[in-house]
Amino acid sequence: MNTHVRPKIVISRCFFEYVRYDGGTVLDPFVEKLKNYVDFITVCPEVDIGLGVPRQRIIIVKDGENKRLIQYQTGIDLTEKMEEFSKGFLSKLENVDGFLLKSKSPSCGVGTTKLYLREQVVGRTYGFFAQAVRESMPYMPLEDEGRLRDKNIRENFLIRIFAFAELRKLMENFSPKGLVEFHSAYKYMLMTYNQKALKELGRLVAQVGKEPERVAKEYKESFMKAFSRIPSASRHANTLMHILGHISRNLNSMEKRHLLHLIQKLKFGKMEHRVIVEVLRSLAYRHNNEYLLKQRYLDPYPEDLA
Ligand code: SF4
Repeated sequence: MNTHVRPKIVISRCFFEYVRYDGGTVLDPFVEKLKNYVDFITVCPEVDIGLGVPRQRIIIVKDGENKRLIQYQTGIDLTEKMEEFSKGFLSKLENVDGFLLKSKSPSCGVGTTKLYLREQVVGRTYGFFAQAVRESMPYMPLEDEGRLRDKNIRENFLIRIFAFAELRKLMENFSPKGLVEFHSAYKYMLMTYNQKALKELGRLVAQVGKEPERVAKEYKESFMKAFSRIPSASRHANTLMHILGHISRNLNSMEKRHLLHLIQKLKFGKMEHRVIVEVLRSLAYRHNNEYLLKQRYLDPYPEDLA
């Protein structure tokens, strides 16, 4: 199988340092694991706008259709300061593959932060920094550690950060041949995420010899956009049927029947696609199927992170 490029991730600094409002830090087992495979750029928006450690609590308050970032005890409004910091930080950021922020924080939470109206919680919202990321980089992987406890969200995040890191590496040293190989390796992954994008990207790749610069730029944007939605079980089933078709001449009738049975169970929510992927990966090894062994769908990120 192929090696994985190390993603560059912007991460909340409190996973590493004692910068929380109460002077604490956060220990998260998944972040600890990621350290072996990912390079981090840390940010603590609250400390970086000049608030100390420890500091008074800040909350998000509903203000008509808008939201304000308020220091609860003093009533100081930090909205503009935080918006300005976020804009400046993000505009200087180059070539990152995703964001992993701290849940529930008024700065970092990804849809998990309490929204207050007259001291009552009236909903959940994005922290101010996370909101700025979502608005300025809509196709960038953006999660908090709370959301990543859901295995589908976590898998989707991992697939995207490792795919985008590989794309970044390709773009840093772009060649038409590199793009053709990259696109071929992501065929089944794109088929799962977005079939329309697979076709459109294929058409772009066909033009790379004539206009490499334009194609590189458009490919990058469209590739990232293609991963916007987590694929359903039936999308995985469709891809797995295609892979089965590719390898079926090497299989006996019992093996084929068994795999079809597993894919059927997946369609009815009684099987996880990951299990079938593992079976197909073993078969690709056994039959030394080079084409399948190069497919990122069968090997999207380091196994240790699964
Ligand atoms: S959640 Fe964000 S703002 Fe709060 S301490 Fe962590 S990094 Fe800083």
